Formats: sequence, C-alpha cells, structure tokens
Amino acid sequence: MPIQIYPIRFGINRCYLVQDNGIIMIDGGPPNKSIAFQKFITRIPIRPDDIRLIILTHGDPDHVGSARDIKLLTGANIAIHENDRLNFENSLYNFPPGTTSWGRLLRFVLNPILKISLKFPGDKSDIVLDNSDYPLYDFGINGKIVYTPGHTKGSVSVLLETGEAFVGCLAHNNLPFRFRPGLPIFAENIDEVRESWKSLIQRGARMIYPAHGDPFHVDVIKNILNN
Ligand SMILES: [Zn+2]
Ligand SMILES: [Zn+2]
Repeated sequence: MPIQIYPIRFGINRCYLVQDNGIIMIDGGPPNKSIAFQKFITRIPIRPDDIRLIILTHGDPDHVGSARDIKLLTGANIAIHENDRLNFENSLYNFPPGTTSWGRLLRFVLNPILKISLKFPGDKSDIVLDNSDYPLYDFGINGKIVYTPGHTKGSVSVLLETGEAFVGCLAHNNLPFRFRPGLPIFAENIDEVRESWKSLIQRGARMIYPAHGDPFHVDVIKNILNN
C-alpha cells in the first residue's frame, strides 16, 4: 500500500499522521485539542493505539500543546530534540522573532494573546534527539528524523525516502502567515533556516508539508535560495 498522509487541522496548525507499515504523528498541535483529535481519528481507518510515535518538530506551544493529551489517548512515545525538550517538559512559552516586517507586526499583536491562550501541560519526553539522524524503520516508516535548526535551536524535520518532508516551521504557507509558500516569517536564526533547507534539498526533499498551510513543491524553496 502506498504511504498515506492524513493532515489534521487544528485551527491554523496542521499535524500529520503518516502511515506506512507503521504510523507516526508529526507534531502535537495547540493546547486543548484532544477532543478534536478523537473526532478526527474516528473518521479514518486508524486506531489511536496504532500510533506509536509523536515527533515534535520543535518546542513552541502551538506544536506541543496537546502532545501530552494525545500521548494519553494513543500510548505513543514522544520524540523531541534536546535543545527544545525543556520547553515541552516544563511547559515553557516561546515565540521566535519575526523575520519580515509582517512577521514582526504579527508577533507584536499576537504575542500578548498567545502567551495566555497557549498554556499547555508538559510531560517527560521519551526520545531525546541529538543532531544526528534518527531512523524510523523501527516504527514502520521508511524515513528518518533530521536536525533542521533555524526556526528554533531544536527544530527537526521528518524526511521520507520517497521525498516527502514534514518540516514544522522551517516553511510557512497560507494566511495569516504568507500569501504564498516560503521561508518562515518567525525564526530565531534565518541563516540557519537556509542551511537546513540546503541540507534537506540535497538529501532528496521533494514535497514539503509545513505545520502552517498547504503542502508545496520544493522547487519553491530552491527558487528562494537562488535569489
Ligand atoms: Zn514555532
Ligand atoms: Zn507554529
């Protein structure tokens, strides 16, 4: 059976379920999404306890907010990079700076609201990732977790051997972020974002699945890096 990808929309966030011989989940969504998750999963041919791993692309609260609750529903392990793990484990708030004037304005407006509305329950991480690749064969997935810092110091992506790349906030697409797909409008280090993209492209990323917005072809990023 070909790989199945199920995007789960939680407001402006997208998590993904990826099904090959096993099933993994990319990101844990904003806080208080466990009921929405339960509703979603009844509509697809996957049982909650089929999900064995939740990979947190980074430690920001809109990506880890429901991870603890979804872990309770599924029994999945949680993987996060060592540089971001304390955000999740200690329920810390983080919002990377704007990289464009729109990003800076949006952050200025949203930050005071999100600081309050994105409070979330943390938990212990089961798998702490370092900067080396983490193969996913044991979870029935032909692919790996790769370290792609830039949006945060602990950002990771999931790269499948067939070229699908789940990049968290290494890219943004759609409103209120961007009109078109492109580099993130929030990032701790935009130069590192570019380096992470070069590495993903060199390693065969083809179709990009961002955590905010629709999937797009990697050629979009190639063009940006060349300009
Ligand atoms: Zn983020
Ligand atoms: Zn986000």
